[in-house]
Amino acid sequence: KAELSGKFGKFMEWVNEVKRLGVYTNADTPRDAKQGRIFGAEGIGLCRTEHMFFSENRIPAVRRMIISRSLEERVKALNELLPMQREDFYGIFKEMREYPVVIRLLDPPLHEFLPKEEKDLQDIANSMGISYEDIRDRVIELEEFNPMLGHRGCRLAVSYPEIARMQARAIIEAAIEIKSEVPNIKPEIMVPLVGHINELKFVKEQMVDEINKVFAEKGEKVEYLIGTMIEVPRAALTADQIATEADFFSFGTNDLTQMTFGFSRDDSSRFLADYNNKKVFDFAPFEQVDQIGVGKLMKMAVEDGRKSNPDLILGICGEHGGDPSSVEFCNALGLTYVSCSPYRVPIARLAAAQAVIKQKQK
Ligand code: PEP
Ligand code: MG
Repeated sequence: KAELSGKFGKFMEWVNEVKRLGVYTNADTPRDAKQGRIFGAEGIGLCRTEHMFFSENRIPAVRRMIISRSLEERVKALNELLPMQREDFYGIFKEMREYPVVIRLLDPPLHEFLPKEEKDLQDIANSMGISYEDIRDRVIELEEFNPMLGHRGCRLAVSYPEIARMQARAIIEAAIEIKSEVPNIKPEIMVPLVGHINELKFVKEQMVDEINKVFAEKGEKVEYLIGTMIEVPRAALTADQIATEADFFSFGTNDLTQMTFGFSRDDSSRFLADYNNKKVFDFAPFEQVDQIGVGKLMKMAVEDGRKSNPDLILGICGEHGGDPSSVEFCNALGLTYVSCSPYRVPIARLAAAQAVIKQKQK
C-alpha cells in the first residue's frame, strides 16, 4: 500500500502538470479503487462486473439467471442479485466520489457460470422444481467450444436483456443513493463486445427504459452516460455508425488484439517465445499495441467516431493502457484517457508525461 509521498510524490505532481492524458484505473472493488486513487488514478476506466457474480452466496441465483428457460424465474433470480449489485456500485462510488466511473455490463465466458458437478446440477433442479435431465440438457445446450468467441458481452445482454436491466437499475439506484453526498455523480455504463450498431442500440434501449422506470419510482434523476467497448475489429471498422449511439468508446485491446491477430489471449504466450526466436515475429502483441494492426484499427475508429460524434470521449482499458510505448501511442492518437490496473498507474502517468515531452521535441 505504498503511498506516493516525499520527493517521489513531488516528482509525480510535476508529472501531472506535464501530461495531457487522463490516467484511470481498472478496478472492480472499493479496495482496488482506493489503491488506484493512492497511486493517482483520476477515475475508473473499467469496472468489470464478472467477479461480483462469483461469490458463493450469489452463484445459485446466477446459475438460475442463466439456465432457466422461464423469464419469470430468471427475473426472480435477478431480483435476488439486485441489492447486492447496488451495494457493489455504491461502495465503488463512495470510494471514487466525483471521479468518473465506467461500469461494464456482465461479460463472462458463459461456461464459467455453468455447473459441472452432478450435485450442483441436482441442487439447481431442486431449487427450480424441474428434472435433473432437463437441467443437464439445458447446460449441454449452453456449452460452447470457443466461449471467448461466443455467448458473451452484449450478446448475453441481447439474449437476456433482463440482466442488462438489472445492472443498469443497480447502477442508477446506487447513484441516486449517493447523490446527497456526491451531487455531481454521473455513472458511465459500458456495453462490451459490440460489433454492430444495432447491438448497442438494442441494449441501450433496454437500459434507458429501465433507468426511466427508476427515475419515476424514486422521483429523482441523475445524469449518466452510455458507451461501448471497441474490442471487436468490426466495431472499429464501423465506428462511424456506432459513435452515433455512444457517448464514449473504450478500446479493449486485449480482445481487439486477440481478434485482429487471431491469437488466443489465453494461450499465445505458450508458443510466442519459440516463435520469436525464429525472428519471424519479434514482439509481444499483448504487451504493446501493434501500431500497424490494432493501432491502425484504433486510429480509424478515433477518426471515424469523432467525425460522427465530435463529443465522443475516447479511452483505452485493455492491459496496454499501462504499457509506456502504448501510452505514447494513445497520446498521439488524442485519446482522453488510458486505464490500467492500479499498480501500473504511476508508470502510465510517467509515460503520459514523457509522451508530451517527446511530442514537443519532435
Ligand atoms: C479487453 O478486451 O481489452 C478488455 C479490457 O476486456 P476484458 O479483458 O475484460 O475482456
Ligand atoms: Mg474484452
